[in-house]
Amino acid sequence: MRVLGIETSCDETGVAVYDTDRGLLAHALYSQIALHAEYGGVVPELASRDHVRKLLPLARQTLAEAGLGVADLDGVAYTAGPGLVGALMVGAAAGRALAWALDVPAIGVHHMEGHLLAPLLEDPGLKPPFVALLVSGGHTQLVEVAAIGDYRLLGETLDDAAGEAFDKTAKLMGLPYPGGPELASLAESGRPGLFKFSRPMTDRPGLDFSFSGLKTQVLLAWQASDQTPETRADIARGFEDAVVETLAIKCDRALQQTGARTLVVAGGVGANTRLRARLQQLAGKRGARVCFPRPAFCTDNGAMIAFAGALRLMAGQHADATVTVAPRWDMASLPAV
Ligand code: ATP
Ligand code: MG
Ligand code: FE
Repeated sequence: MRVLGIETSCDETGVAVYDTDRGLLAHALYSQIALHAEYGGVVPELASRDHVRKLLPLARQTLAEAGLGVADLDGVAYTAGPGLVGALMVGAAAGRALAWALDVPAIGVHHMEGHLLAPLLEDPGLKPPFVALLVSGGHTQLVEVAAIGDYRLLGETLDDAAGEAFDKTAKLMGLPYPGGPELASLAESGRPGLFKFSRPMTDRPGLDFSFSGLKTQVLLAWQASDQTPETRADIARGFEDAVVETLAIKCDRALQQTGARTLVVAGGVGANTRLRARLQQLAGKRGARVCFPRPAFCTDNGAMIAFAGALRLMAGQHADATVTVAPRWDMASLPAV
């Protein structure tokens, strides 16, 4: 089955074709970063309009790269939520209409299930049960995955998501939007241990997170510092170490608590080199295994939507002919596959 995947939940237009026999055939991504940069954050109306402009050309390009025409598609998957409602509507309307015209089934995919399943895209041997750490711009969750579609929330952030904390911390130290990856690369040249920030909520049991206080700690340290580039890098390193260590402590607890032997990491912060190394080390100590998507599939992309959609379409699930999106959508409410 060949499935076209469409991602338009936020500020990235992603398209891909996944073939259930041959794997990923092509994928393309257009990022709106430059469009939103002057506002210091995503402007929803501009995001929707840019998806309208870019989606069809990107779909044509992706199909051409796969050597396919639209008539070769057996199904269409689009992100139906969670995300920005206008942005979601663009992908959902285009995806649903295309499926209608081709007379093939369509499915609305949960964006976070897309992230969660991305590591399976390149590792067909990877199967539940496992524990998933979802660390993105809008979510920080630990999820127990008994089977595909059977998700139990173990813990989540009570305030900022880890990616959001990276972005906001970068901004308050004057880094250009979007600051997260920028802050991470700055941390590479920072010296460890010069600035020590707390590991929030690790001093009590449980698997919830809280990252908003960390940002305030960084602000105070930054304001009291000499604000040289070297100091900024040292603070970035201290911040990154605090986030990475906090995530690692909770992942370790989640593995212990569930008895799972596999940890799956997904979402934009999963691209962080230090996080990847730290979780690798932790899993090694436990005799467990940790799996990440390639960095480009940690952040938003069409491939994860094509893949997640294909799994559900193969199981006979599909959306009806209406265009429906869910800006807020609990992953635990998804049907089993
Ligand atoms: P959600 O998936 O929760 O709806 P989103 O789609 O905006 O949110 P993603 O695209 O998965 O989030 O990831 C983007 C986030 O990942 C941003 O907050 C960004 O700062 C962060 N990020 C990307 N690369 C890195 C990195 N190397 N280190 C730390 N954070 C990173
Ligand atoms: Mg984005
Ligand atoms: Fe995302």
